Amino acid sequence: MSARQYAESLRSLETPFYFYDMDLLRRTLEVVLRESSRYGFQVHYALKANFDDRIVSEMVQAGLGMDCVSGNEVRKAIESGCPASKVVYAGVGKSDKEIRYALEQGIFAFNVESLHELEVINTLAGEMGRKAPVALRINPNVDPRTHRYIATGQSDSKFGISYTEINQAIASLTTLSEVEIVGLHFHVGSQILDMGVFENLCHRVNDIKAWFEEQGIRLRHINLGGGLGVDYYLPDQHPISDFAAYFETVHRSLKVDPDQTVHFELGRSLVAQCGELITRVLYNKQTATGTQIVVVDGGMNDLIRPALYQAHHKIENLMSSGPVESYMVVGPICESADVFDRDVDLPATHRGDLLSVRTAGAYGMSMASRYNLQNLPGAVYSDRL
Ligand SMILES: *Cc1c(COP(=O)(O)O)cnc(C)c1O
Repeated sequence: MSARQYAESLRSLETPFYFYDMDLLRRTLEVVLRESSRYGFQVHYALKANFDDRIVSEMVQAGLGMDCVSGNEVRKAIESGCPASKVVYAGVGKSDKEIRYALEQGIFAFNVESLHELEVINTLAGEMGRKAPVALRINPNVDPRTHRYIATGQSDSKFGISYTEINQAIASLTTLSEVEIVGLHFHVGSQILDMGVFENLCHRVNDIKAWFEEQGIRLRHINLGGGLGVDYYLPDQHPISDFAAYFETVHRSLKVDPDQTVHFELGRSLVAQCGELITRVLYNKQTATGTQIVVVDGGMNDLIRPALYQAHHKIENLMSSGPVESYMVVGPICESADVFDRDVDLPATHRGDLLSVRTAGAYGMSMASRYNLQNLPGAVYSDRL
């Protein structure tokens, strides 16, 4: 149930805070497990979407692996009870310290993003007397048709090993003795709703995979990354992403041998809809041009997506219904970019009303900062109200 159903219990709590619908999270995980297990697919949770302890613990209990992008995330995954053998570790800038830590833990695979990194991992593994399991993150040059800040798989992106360097990568693998290739990794972007993008990705992967195999490199795992989108406009109509269509698209389009496993790293689609940012109305005012502004106590430091990606989030007034007016919804931070949205239709807002910024469970709390020395937002869980 969304925060609206709990409005009375939420009214007296200190704002702003994230509200998590734990029932929706569990139902989402059930669907993901049901639809992925049809094809024997393995799902990792992309921890960076939200590393709230209770959310991570639900992921571990559901048996998901973890996809980490820093040494601290690897530590968080393991300390939360995820077996190291289910941890994958990506990132263009892994430090020596982070690599050593992950090697000690015995993670499933490093998703390696450059040939230079491959050499460094080889050296560090040699020093430690360990073999490093690696998957090469290939940048397949697939257009994800999403916002440029969340696109990662095009030819001039900073992520991955360029498809033009594949032959060099294959040559390196044969000379570097301390790395063991376990597979290939791809991740082309986020908030992808067009299944055609995943179909294109699979076709590219089929070609790249075949090329590696023709060069005598055996690939046990193909990791297709994450990126499945959610409905930011109609969260109540589409609380759970279309996992059936997603996994079916991959099953239909990706060529895998019986001994190869397919992995996914889902972040946004697992947690976005279960979270809402709850914030309180402080003031109403008007600009010289007649725009009605509602000032709330939550801002871009709590949820940066609108300011950073021009992202849209549905905003609701939890305290009143009735005739709507058009508002610009702004936070307290001293930045003109601290605007949640313009032209938002809301029932007339009054000081003290709670507004909900919907679909904020992913890349909300995990990107929150203390800019302007604001407090970090709290967390409230539906099953603890
Ligand atoms: C961020 C990220 C993901 C998760 O992306 P979503 O769009 O949230 O599903 C998966 N893999 C890698 C390597 C990432 O960086």
